[in-house]
Amino acid sequence: MANDILGGLLKGFSSFMPQDDPNTKLFQLGNELNDLQQQETQAYAVIGKRVFSNVSSDPEFGDLVLEIQTLQRRIAQVQSQMKATQDEKEAMEKRAQALRCPECGSENQEGVKFCGECGAKLGSSACSSCGTENPPNTRFCGECGNKLL
Ligand SMILES: [Zn+2]
Ligand SMILES: [Zn+2]
Repeated sequence: MANDILGGLLKGFSSFMPQDDPNTKLFQLGNELNDLQQQETQAYAVIGKRVFSNVSSDPEFGDLVLEIQTLQRRIAQVQSQMKATQDEKEAMEKRAQALRCPECGSENQEGVKFCGECGAKLGSSACSSCGTENPPNTRFCGECGNKLL
């Protein structure tokens, strides 16, 4: 008796399980279809790459061969642009880092020696007497006692 009730409950519950919902089913099947079609396209692409050199002089594929060659040139251009932009980004980050005040974190203009926000010394804090690098805003050189600020 108790089992019947439980069984009935489970049955009732399972009919509302999300996988029985037509929308969920359609969504899952749609995803599966996309996956399968992508795999199919990739397999075609592998065949295409293998036979490309054989058909590249075949006039029947003239337009497509031209298109692929144009695409390959564009891909190379975009790749080198990406590389250049990446380098530029890193250089910018390095510059920003160098101009960032170690005390208050605000960014300063290139060439300034002291933070415009809090007056902390920026850049290298090498001792003018002995050349030892001291932490920013150290008042006296840890090596020779020379006054730094
Ligand atoms: Zn500052
Ligand atoms: Zn010193």
